[in-house]
Amino acid sequence: MHFDFDEKQRKAIVETVFEKIEHFYSNTKDYSTTPELNIQKIRGFVESPDLTSGNEADKALLHVVNGLEKYTVHTPHPKYFGLFNPRSNFAGIIADFLTASYNPQLAAWSHAPFAVEAEALVVRELATKFGLDKNSADGVFATGGAEANLTAVLCALNKKHPNFARDGLFGLEKKPLIFCSEEAHHSVQKAAKIVGLGYDLVKPIPVDGALKMDTKVLEQEIEKLKNSPYSPLMVIGTAGTTGTGTVDDLTSIFDICRANDIWFHVDAAYGGAAVLSTKLKHLLKGIECSDSITFDAHKWMSVPMGASLFLTAHSEILGKTFRITTEYMPKEASEMEIIDPFAHSIQWSRRFIGLKVYLSLLFYGWNAYEKTINDQVEIGDFLRSRLMENGWTIKNDTRLPLVCFTDRELETDLKFTKTVLANILSKGTSWLSLYPINDIPTFRVCITNYNTAEMEIEELVRELNEERKVYKKNH
Ligand SMILES: *Cc1c(COP(=O)(O)O)cnc(C)c1O
Repeated sequence: MHFDFDEKQRKAIVETVFEKIEHFYSNTKDYSTTPELNIQKIRGFVESPDLTSGNEADKALLHVVNGLEKYTVHTPHPKYFGLFNPRSNFAGIIADFLTASYNPQLAAWSHAPFAVEAEALVVRELATKFGLDKNSADGVFATGGAEANLTAVLCALNKKHPNFARDGLFGLEKKPLIFCSEEAHHSVQKAAKIVGLGYDLVKPIPVDGALKMDTKVLEQEIEKLKNSPYSPLMVIGTAGTTGTGTVDDLTSIFDICRANDIWFHVDAAYGGAAVLSTKLKHLLKGIECSDSITFDAHKWMSVPMGASLFLTAHSEILGKTFRITTEYMPKEASEMEIIDPFAHSIQWSRRFIGLKVYLSLLFYGWNAYEKTINDQVEIGDFLRSRLMENGWTIKNDTRLPLVCFTDRELETDLKFTKTVLANILSKGTSWLSLYPINDIPTFRVCITNYNTAEMEIEELVRELNEERKVYKKNH
């Protein structure tokens, strides 16, 4: 047994894998959206193969494919109406295969100049699409929105406090506060914990009737800090909240930030993809004035996890935040005007994350993205109209394809949504979730799959109608 196998074995393995993924990829809808969550059974299954002497490749592959097919929520399913996890496009799948095979090390530019420059190109293209000035914009790929948001907090600290890199939080006179809305993603709290600020220094601002950050309250809260032991560090506006797809009023937040000299970060992990559509990009108005942006390609750009981008309007800030010099890192390119990604981001050894996006653009181009995003927004509109025609009431207000709804008569009955959801999930024909809006539980249905069409929406609405009928009969 040799790690490399021989050519015949490799071909056989790739063929087996191809056959399996081909079956899954072209028949995804036939699979159950939900797995059986029996921990004993799953652990027993995982532990069953021999790990001491290894197994025949076919047998090992079959084991893994069985495990993945049986014990996974199938996010590539066209009726997975879930948490922004897309169906991976084929470019993204192949990109991960290529990346693993060539295994370029992106820590230093000179080790992987093609890969580093390909990522830099995608960063420039996206920064331009978001309206940042391409002469001063910068950015870096991250594993996910959580890493990108953490990067934003670190950059804000390093921008405001010139000696932060040396002195850390101990050098600060006042406690820095992070403002975001109550509906912001909790990776913000996590970032505050990791940085050592503590999550108490994250101040969630209430939302208004439209579920957007109440900027009047934000202004008052900032005003109150004068002559206090606290100082406002950054405001995070969300462009497409995780719960309801709401876009904060970015222009008003920017005005407040500018007037008070505060870092303005936009968490556009999900909704950022709206800038790829000429019809929709106005929804993100104000994002072009931001100091930094989080954008997850592994959400609405349909590439596999984890592919996120941190973008910033300040070309010097990533270097200031992360640069470290060492003797052992390659110096072949030290005379060139290049950036070593390890000195520019949280990660050191780096995977070629950006290939998923670069290859998607090589295969399909920005035009395909524009069309896909417009199509999905239309499917979202279709869902809204079918729900309303069937007596459901919609509780969120967004142009993005994310719909929160319930039944008007039953909305105060806390058991209603739970029961209907449990019944649908147990059938495994669709996947959706619940999200409370002003204490009213709603069904949350999000379209992030380019294969979800009107037929799937009709099926979902039928399932919901049937479960509602059964519930009404029994209560
Ligand atoms: C998904 C999400 C995140 C977290 O991103 P990950 O890629 O899961 O790390 C942060 N913010 C928002 C608004 C999100 O939707």
